[in-house]
Amino acid sequence: MSKPSDSSKPSDFSKQSDFDLIVLGGGSGGLAAAFRAAGHGARVALLEPGELGGTCVNVGCVPKKAMWLAADIAGKLAMAPTLGFDAGPARLDWPAFIAHRQRYIGNIHASYRQRLDDAGIATLPLRGHLVDAHTVACPNGLRIRAPQILLATGARPRRPDIPGAGLGLVSDDFFDFCHAPERVAILGGGYIAVELAGVLQALGSRVELFARGARLLAGFDHDLVAQLAEDYRQHGVHLNFAHVLQSLQPAGERVRVRDATGNDSEPFDAVIFAMGRLPNSDGIGLDAVGVDRGPLGHVLVDEFQRTNVAGVHAVGDITARPALTPVAIAAARRLMDRLFGGEPDARLDYDNIASVVFSHPPLGSVGLSEAQARERHGDSVRVYQSNFRPMLQALADAPQRSLFKLVCVGEDERIAGIHLLGEGSDEILQGFAVAVKLGVRKRDLDEVVAIHPTSAEEVVLMR
Ligand SMILES: Cc1cc2nc3c(=O)[nH]c(=O)nc-3n(C[C@H](O)[C@H](O)[C@H](O)COP(=O)(O)OP(=O)(O)OC[C@H]3O[C@@H](n4cnc5c(N)ncnc54)[C@H](O)[C@@H]3O)c2cc1C
Repeated sequence: MSKPSDSSKPSDFSKQSDFDLIVLGGGSGGLAAAFRAAGHGARVALLEPGELGGTCVNVGCVPKKAMWLAADIAGKLAMAPTLGFDAGPARLDWPAFIAHRQRYIGNIHASYRQRLDDAGIATLPLRGHLVDAHTVACPNGLRIRAPQILLATGARPRRPDIPGAGLGLVSDDFFDFCHAPERVAILGGGYIAVELAGVLQALGSRVELFARGARLLAGFDHDLVAQLAEDYRQHGVHLNFAHVLQSLQPAGERVRVRDATGNDSEPFDAVIFAMGRLPNSDGIGLDAVGVDRGPLGHVLVDEFQRTNVAGVHAVGDITARPALTPVAIAAARRLMDRLFGGEPDARLDYDNIASVVFSHPPLGSVGLSEAQARERHGDSVRVYQSNFRPMLQALADAPQRSLFKLVCVGEDERIAGIHLLGEGSDEILQGFAVAVKLGVRKRDLDEVVAIHPTSAEEVVLMR
């Protein structure tokens, strides 16, 4: 990639420019950039043809977590009679729950709208594409100019190019469900596949998951993933590995999954592709302007979020960086601090970013997995782990166990990775992620007095 610079303004550019910054996309990254730039006094235009908040708010993190919470309640209700409650497994009234979910999302939209107005950001409900490195055009003929342009158009679910693909759904469609389909196939083994499988099974579907690989959640710690797969089997999710998808076949109102050997599955009421996401980088003028892209279409950026074209930047899922909302937000804020806030070195440090898979139970991870650590650091890796039954599971005599793991490196046993599978892992991990970022060592954790009785205490009690 050629070395770009940010100082490409023609000498008379400020006279011609309508704004200091134009942002394409009002999702996690675009909104964060617009707010931060406006806070620094920049004149900002934000183009968003859809709902404010993008994937995360409308068809990602937020509605997904709402459904996960519903599934969590369903799991607790199913356990309640065992513990002596005069209550039992209950069916979810989906329309009633969805009304709560969408009201919550509606409030987020309203809050964004208000904040955009308050910040004086020109918000245009239009798709934009680059005409040159400083000009954005819209379908209605509007043209606006700025010295800095941010690409934050996100990504979309990938549909495989197979016969019958049109019979399948994608994660966006899941959020239109008004009931749990009786039998569901999920094609994929990544975090979205695992999350949808857990939610649907807990809310009453019979779920079968077909993964191409030999395991779920590639990149996450092997032992935790194996334990999670066991939990899923106990909950009734059927897991198929090394599955090569050939086509989808109609079966009346339902759909069969055909594999490469020609075998057909039982018919399903819904088949959901969860086979990765592709960047929204086509049709926005990148080729005309000469912005470099990777083999899957991701916009190539350097550590300062610069593309190879001066004045054109990118953050979030349109780049090949970790596709997480807080990553898009943090990268956008650092970039705006650098462009408009007088912080010439501001950039996001992409190391040790924590993430959680909202499975049942959740799986949280920061830093290196054991396998990654051994690959990088060989014999200087030491692993501590705790495999235990959380109190609620023990009280109900339920089989689900938690597995926590610390991956330490070197003589001083610096913590290179923390991996938590079990109830509460999603909430426990954040604080420990701070410690990892600060370079915590095993003996520092040993010095901490535990909070009892909790699952979290296991992190500081491993020997
Ligand atoms: C099912 C699911 C669950 C997820 N769960 C989590 C989670 O739990 N935690 C987490 O951190 N992340 C999660 N993510 C990922 C997260 O949603 C994304 O990483 C994040 O939304 C990326 O932000 P972004 O700004 O890059 O793109 P987006 O939020 O997708 O925003 C892009 C916006 O650009 C707009 N746009 C597209 N083309 C144009 C154009 N030409 N002009 C103007 N605007 C345009 C789109 O309409 C869209 O609103 C999840 C994703 C999915 C799909």
